[in-house]
Amino acid sequence: MGNSMCGKRGLVMGVANDRSIAWGIAKAMHEAGAELAFSYQGDAFGKRVAPLAESVGSDFLVDVDVTDDASLDAAFDGLAQRWPTIDFVVHAIAFSDKSELTGRFLNTSRANFKHSMDISCYSFIEVARRAHPLMCENGGTLLTLTYQGSNRVVPNYNVMGVAKAALESATRYLANDLGPDGIRVNAISPGPMKTLAGAAIGGARKTYKHTDMNAPLRANATLEAVGGTAVYLASDAGACTTGEVIRVDGGFHVLGMPQADNL
Ligand code: NAD
Repeated sequence: MGNSMCGKRGLVMGVANDRSIAWGIAKAMHEAGAELAFSYQGDAFGKRVAPLAESVGSDFLVDVDVTDDASLDAAFDGLAQRWPTIDFVVHAIAFSDKSELTGRFLNTSRANFKHSMDISCYSFIEVARRAHPLMCENGGTLLTLTYQGSNRVVPNYNVMGVAKAALESATRYLANDLGPDGIRVNAISPGPMKTLAGAAIGGARKTYKHTDMNAPLRANATLEAVGGTAVYLASDAGACTTGEVIRVDGGFHVLGMPQADNL
């Protein structure tokens, strides 16, 4: 990783605690030399994020609810005052009512469908629009997080799978819009990980174990591996990659069926 992010600075959105994927990315970005700002959702998470941010030398923390335009505006205005340009934004944010992350997709409610799409997909577009002026001068990278429940049926993932499919499509459209300004837009797709959001999905433990036992590498994704992929994408090494969904899942997505010894 070296110092491939030296001289680069950016915003990491979505750290809830030290198990968050956003935190794995923040640590790897810091180790590669990046300067970081953080957004968190509400005071309770703010208390957990503050010491983490401090440990990577950041004193820029801002409370953002991505469904609230005013809080997004305030965050990006604050960022622009601190830094005239930024090099990356990490969007590691998703939400669905837990009661609909179990059972039949058929029972998805209109209210939760809209809410899940708003937070888990539409917010990336709002973030991209606000990051754009801060990246126009030098180019930059926007990263989001997705999961293969977007294009395969994963039991209980339900409405979140539809939101991730929309998010991956939004990644491609944003990549095309922003490419002429040197801004790359990519999604990282880890396998199941033990986080707050991951635990909300019905049968999470089973899914985690299944992937661990059957992936070609016989291992689930780690925070370090996702962080390393984020550094590659946001650094000059990823200069020609945009509109892409990069899987970090031990190769699980290539399987047609479970390993013979696990049948
Ligand atoms: P996490 O619970 O640590 O992070 C989710 C974050 O979303 C939290 O920080 C939460 O505060 C934030 N959030 C939710 N609603 C918000 C709102 N209205 N405004 C602002 N922030 C809001 O869990 P995680 O697993 O690290 O999730 C990060 C991303 O990774 C998500 O997009 C998730 O879908 C994706 N992902 C997770 C897994 C997994 O198995 N955990 C696998 C693939 C992709």
